[in-house]
Amino acid sequence: ASAQHSRSITVLGSTGSIGVSTLDVVKHLGRETFEVAALTGSSNIALLAEQARNFNAKLAVTADANRYNDLKDALAGTGIEVAAGRSGLIEAAEMDAGLVMAAIVGTAGLAPTLAAAKRGADIALANKECLVSAGDLFVEAVKQGGGKLLPVDSEHNAIFQVLEENQRHALERVIITASGGPFRTYTLEQMAGVTADVARAHPNWSMGLKISIDSASMFNKALEMIEAKHLFGLAPEQVEVIVHPQSIIHSMVGYTDGSVLAQLGCPDMRTAIGYALQYPQRASLPIERLDFAKLSRLDFEAPDETRFPALRLARLAMTRGGVQGAVLNGAKEVALEAFIAGRAGFLTMADLTEKVMIELSTLPAASSMDDVFAADTEARRLAAQHIG
Ligand code: NAD
Ligand code: MG
Repeated sequence: ASAQHSRSITVLGSTGSIGVSTLDVVKHLGRETFEVAALTGSSNIALLAEQARNFNAKLAVTADANRYNDLKDALAGTGIEVAAGRSGLIEAAEMDAGLVMAAIVGTAGLAPTLAAAKRGADIALANKECLVSAGDLFVEAVKQGGGKLLPVDSEHNAIFQVLEENQRHALERVIITASGGPFRTYTLEQMAGVTADVARAHPNWSMGLKISIDSASMFNKALEMIEAKHLFGLAPEQVEVIVHPQSIIHSMVGYTDGSVLAQLGCPDMRTAIGYALQYPQRASLPIERLDFAKLSRLDFEAPDETRFPALRLARLAMTRGGVQGAVLNGAKEVALEAFIAGRAGFLTMADLTEKVMIELSTLPAASSMDDVFAADTEARRLAAQHIG
């Protein structure tokens, strides 16, 4: 084999759950596979500085403009460049790495990921909010830039693995699996009183705080339905959800001949990350192997949209189209932050999101990113006003 050229990678959100797993995959693949261009974090300066040193990054960025000096001090004498704030994030995204892992949480990831897409980088996309809020405009920006869009969310990565490009015309439906989260068997009354500490304990996956709570409310699945629609160009009715408590089947694709193809594995995000980083090759990774004899059974149940209204709201957003994804996500993020801070109840998250979606149901479709940001801002303003 000829000597492989090393690729250059930037990790937006390197200090988070996906970011740390990404750098672990990069380490396993070896220094000759990837060199690190930029790493970004926010409040965890110690971890960001340690990562930048270990991976010999060219640039380290904290999203928190007030922490610039802390990061500068932590990296003094290393020759690693330092930047901060929104402009720092854009600088990181615009460095000439061929691959950018988009792993910032929430709408904060949209602008830097978009900047990377526009200059033609391949985008390994964990930040599902990019697709939920900006939908077709984001997909179009990637297409215009000329890079690949590589899904990292485990469900979408599973679909990406089993969806043959030359069989797209025969694709009938995608079936997204959901663990059901920690409250899968709870009544609405039981859910009404839960705290963020209880809600963050996911049964199968180890993830960041916000996505863990979104999994408990099934807002995570709601976002993933919208994400799938845009990623794979589907009609709303082609997006199905099935509750599968073991999280062994990561998602499935159904074809017009009745065949269903699935991707299976132990619940470890490094499989999806490795696939995105090495596509179309496969990485060699120390992931726990599935032992079918020990598994013995896989369970399935229909999702319950009465106890988990987020799923119904996702369908509404998909059917309405336009900026409704941005409205859903903007309102949800405000409600989620209020729930984490103990200022709103668990069920308030769906109630409040629905309220804002009704209030903003007639917003026109976005013709530019500015329209998307405006819809997001307006949804946040209304949600904050309702919380009081
Ligand atoms: P996390 O909270 O663990 O990490 C978030 C990262 O974003 C950190 O590096 C943090 O410093 C940075 N960040 C936070 N606020 C920021 C801001 N305002 N501006 C810039 N950077 C900021 O989150 P995570 O679980 O790693 O999730 C990251 C993204 O990946 C989310 O969009 C999530 O939905 C998606 N995702 C995560 C998982 C998972 O297993 N954790 C699975 C699928 C998809
Ligand atoms: Mg997922």
